[in-house]
This record gives sequence, C-alpha cells and structure tokens, in this order.
Amino acid sequence: MKILKGKTALVTGATRGIGKAIAMKFAEAGANVAFTYRQKNGAAEELEATITAMGVNCKGYAADAADYAATEAVVKQIIADFGRIDILVNNAGITKDGLLMRMSEEQWDAVITTNLKSAFNFTRIIVPIMAKQRGGSIINMSSVVGVSGNAGQCNYSASKAGLIGFSKSVAKEMGPRGIRVNCIAPGFIQTDMTSALPEEMREAWAKSIPLRRGGTPEDVANVALFLASDLSSYITGQVINCCGGMNC
Ligand code: NAD
Repeated sequence: MKILKGKTALVTGATRGIGKAIAMKFAEAGANVAFTYRQKNGAAEELEATITAMGVNCKGYAADAADYAATEAVVKQIIADFGRIDILVNNAGITKDGLLMRMSEEQWDAVITTNLKSAFNFTRIIVPIMAKQRGGSIINMSSVVGVSGNAGQCNYSASKAGLIGFSKSVAKEMGPRGIRVNCIAPGFIQTDMTSALPEEMREAWAKSIPLRRGGTPEDVANVALFLASDLSSYITGQVINCCGGMNC
C-alpha cells in the first residue's frame, strides 16, 4: 500500500538500526527519502542504492544533528534537491550511560545535545517549511525510559523525557497550521545501541517483557509509518509506546 506516495521524508541518523528500518519502510510506502548520518563509512551509499532501487528518490547527507548551523545547511540542500519536506523523523540518538554519582559533565552534555537539541534544531528549521506547505508530520524518537526513568541513564532518560515535553508543546503551537507532532517510545529494541549493554541486563529486560522478546527495528518502523501517514490524521501530541507491553 503506497500510503506515502508523493511525500518527502527526512530521517536523521538513518544508516543503521531503527532509522534505517524507518527509511526503508517509508520508501516501501512510496515516499522519497532524505536521510542524515554522522560519519561516512559506506553505509549511506549502500542505503541510497537500496532505496533508489525501490523506485523512489533517496539521498544521504553527512551532518551532525546536534549542530544548528550544520542542520540549517543540510535542510537548505534537501529543499534544493527534493523541493519539500512532509515528514520529519528525529531519530538520531546516543547513550553514554553511568550512575549519576559517576556521571561527567561531558556525558551529560553529549547526550542532551545529540538527543534533545538535535530535535529542536531540525524542528525549528523545518516547521516554517511545513507551515508554508500547510501540513506535516513530525515524529520524535523518545524511549520508555523517558516515561519511567532508568537507573544508570539519567542523562538519556532526561533527553527522552525532554523530547516528550517538546513534542507536546510544538503540537499545541503548530496544530492550527496542520502540523502534527508525536513521539514513539520504544522499549528494548535489538540494535547496535542495545547490543552494547551487558548480556545480563539484556536477558533481564527480555524476561520482564510481556511479549517475551525484544522488539525489532521494523516493529518501530511500523508505528512510524502510521504516524507519518494520513492514517493518523487526528493524532497529535501523543506518545506511542512500542515496547511489547513493558510499560503497560
Ligand atoms: P543506533 O545507535 O543503532 O543508531 C543511532 C543512529 O544515530 C546511528 O546511525 C548514529 O550514527 C546516528 N547518530 C548519532 N549521533 C548523531 C548525530 N550527532 N548526528 C547524526 N546522526 C547521529 O541506535 P538505534 O537503537 O537505532 O536508536 C535509534 C533511536 O531510537 C535513538 O534515538 C535511540 O535513543 C532510540 N531508542 C532506541 C531504543 C533501543 O532499544 N534500541 C529504545 C528506545 C529508543
């Protein structure tokens, strides 16, 4: 079902994991896809080729999502290349875990800047474009730990909770202009990010999940597809948990 045909999506941090699954899912649904990545390592070119072969336009752009000036430059280039942006997915994110008592200022700043300020950067710059187009869908990648907190992740949880407050506020400001803003709060999703966690922690998490498995990037991409498309046309300012029941 080509429910995104004619739309252009921008996904940040999309060369692997959840971002990549979303970029592929949107392309399958007929969207043209622009995506960003931080470091050049061949993965961007590979994704461009895979998505272009699906019959839509696709281009990757190297840009640090945490850098406002770089974001302005990249959005300008995307508009020059694609002409419009209908869907924005603020997906880029990092972890630098540690207990508060041992957390450095650098760990705090890096996570808040990459996970939260990046969403401000892209949203601030793209909202006027969407307003001129009279609509758009913005999806911010939060986390269940932004809803419930998590020992050892105060920086990450704060950044993800911040995204929820940010999304709800922008949803209220921009609703009258037809721009919807929602969050996805994934639980334990099997990606490079979670494979870095200790084995015991991953096992404990999987056991505590009612659906008895970690999620896949595609599980999250399916929610993103719903929020990006007109199937969710009356949904804004919401957080959708995608967590196998972990947070129910
Ligand atoms: P991942 O580490 O596999 O992918 C993150 C991507 O973001 C990478 O491609 C990375 O290069 C990119 N990125 C990081 N910093 C960037 C920057 N400054 N500029 C541009 N790109 C940057 O992680 P993932 O598991 O696919 O996570 C994707 C998103 O989902 C993140 O925001 C993460 O916090 C969130 N999330 C993941 C899980 C999980 O269990 N995996 C759970 C909840 C939320």
